[in-house]
Amino acid sequence: MEKNTDIKKAARQHLEMETFFSGGLMPKTKQAQQQLKQTRQAQKNAAAELEKIADEVGKCHRCELGQTRTNAVPGEGNPNADIFFIGEAPGADEDAQARPFVGRAGKLLDKIINAMGLKRTDVYIGNILKCRPPENRDPGHEEITSCLPHLQRQIETINPEIIVALGAHAAKTLLETNKSIGQLRGQFHEYYLGLGTPPIKLMATYHPAYLLRNYSTENRKRVWEDMKKVLAELNLSVP
Ligand code: URA
Repeated sequence: MEKNTDIKKAARQHLEMETFFSGGLMPKTKQAQQQLKQTRQAQKNAAAELEKIADEVGKCHRCELGQTRTNAVPGEGNPNADIFFIGEAPGADEDAQARPFVGRAGKLLDKIINAMGLKRTDVYIGNILKCRPPENRDPGHEEITSCLPHLQRQIETINPEIIVALGAHAAKTLLETNKSIGQLRGQFHEYYLGLGTPPIKLMATYHPAYLLRNYSTENRKRVWEDMKKVLAELNLSVP
């Protein structure tokens, strides 16, 4: 017991000396420890908030899709992701499993993410709509308006460096434009969450389902060019 107290005393004295000789500034080791603690806390907070949003999405009946879905599909991935991939709406596989991009288009998205040198768990994956529109029809205007606040809260919580909008519906909704995906893809745009918050860079690209239907070398090249721009923006090397 006495020994323990001596060690603590010596450590305190060491810290005081370090503080004194560093001109009153906090010792580097302590600063680093505090930063690490703050980062860990922020990560925990983001994960908890995303769970809360997922819980609310699971109970959501803001539009009629709440009646027709099997499962809501809130989204999944790293709560502190640098990249947030946003698609259109869950399909049949996603509706059955309550997970985004797990069908054929999802397998292609996995390939794209892996080709970028990343794993699914490094990024966050979600959709404009959290519930499947019957027969995979296009999302309705009112459905988008009702559902968007869930996504906006996810974006605010994750605060990604880059949003990748997959396909025309995601790109047009997030950028509030009628331009075609052909016009929008390939360059960075700015996504604004609200007044007073800095814009988030948004790269639009073709939806994996579109790519599957139009699997030409040219289209694949275009998507890969878009993803290389995303990697460059994050200072990540192209694998
Ligand atoms: N297409 C989408 O847009 N989202 C999914 O989750 C699956 C397919």
